[in-house]
Amino acid sequence: MIITLKNKATKKEEKKVVDKIKSLGYLPHISRGNNVTIIGMIGEQAEKYKENFEAMDEVDHISEIEKPYKLASREFKQENTVIKLPYGIEIGGNKVPVIAGPCAIESKSVLDEIAKIVKDDGGTILRGGAFKPRSSPYAFQGLGEKGLKYIGEIGKKYKMPTISEAMSVEEVPLVAHYCDIVQIGARNVQNYDLLKACGKQKKPVLLKRGMATTIKEWLLSAEYILSQGNYNVMLCERGIRTFETATRFTLDLNAIPVVKKLTHLPVVLDPSHGIGIREHVPTMAKACLAVGADAIAMEIHPRPEEALSDGPQSLLPEQYKKLMDELKVLAQALGREI
Ligand code: PEP
Ligand code: MN
Repeated sequence: MIITLKNKATKKEEKKVVDKIKSLGYLPHISRGNNVTIIGMIGEQAEKYKENFEAMDEVDHISEIEKPYKLASREFKQENTVIKLPYGIEIGGNKVPVIAGPCAIESKSVLDEIAKIVKDDGGTILRGGAFKPRSSPYAFQGLGEKGLKYIGEIGKKYKMPTISEAMSVEEVPLVAHYCDIVQIGARNVQNYDLLKACGKQKKPVLLKRGMATTIKEWLLSAEYILSQGNYNVMLCERGIRTFETATRFTLDLNAIPVVKKLTHLPVVLDPSHGIGIREHVPTMAKACLAVGADAIAMEIHPRPEEALSDGPQSLLPEQYKKLMDELKVLAQALGREI
């Protein structure tokens, strides 16, 4: 339920409404505009108190949020959320940052080599996994905290914000300490303790869609993070499982206009995991931009045959360079900027 206060309500009036919400056992979420303050009253069946709040002098009107995800919905917040990152990078505005890097951080020198390529050709956010969710327990599991140290240092060296995945509650503060964005991977999209832990810390969170997650479930997962007080959440479509086996996953481009209508949160697209085939990643990256991505995430590697994870989908430096040139032209045609 959304409680809109009277025009230019004072802090004292706001507090009266907030205290009442809390006394009923609900969570208040305050959003202050230039003239109007709206307060979300979050919790099960908040609507049953509608009349009590309507009767308050401080309140202008009440509206109900129909969707099961409340804070994530456009009903709660109409304008797009813009997430601010270091070095003036934003996700959710007119500019479309490219997030690029290796699947896994393999060594400091290889990460440095890749970061230079990312930066030189216009990428603005450095990615790299230190805790890797591998299908096989025998596959490379990542460098752990050592890898996070490397990406933290190299991000600073090239003045790029960084992103890395946390797979468990214990890993969240570690990733948040070294990196600027905490990634929650597809396999953990419904790990609710992990989502709550992300919501209790302050760094922005990139929430990947699970390979068998509906849009509604995905948005409810985002709601877990938001409901803990962290509003800097971005969604990431990375492909779902369908009957098709010719590609690694099926990048659900349909989801983007639908999700953007339902939520104010930025939507990132990941064509690398989405199709899983290097040769076709550039085509799909352009489709991602066309469909309205707020950022594009891609894996690159100078020697994919030596990569310890996801080599077959990692772009070669020259492919990345060519793609970035094409994306810049396409962005202009679409009224956006890379
Ligand atoms: C990744 O980004 O390297 C990754 C493991 O992604 P996903 O969770 O989408 O499989
Ligand atoms: Mn990967």
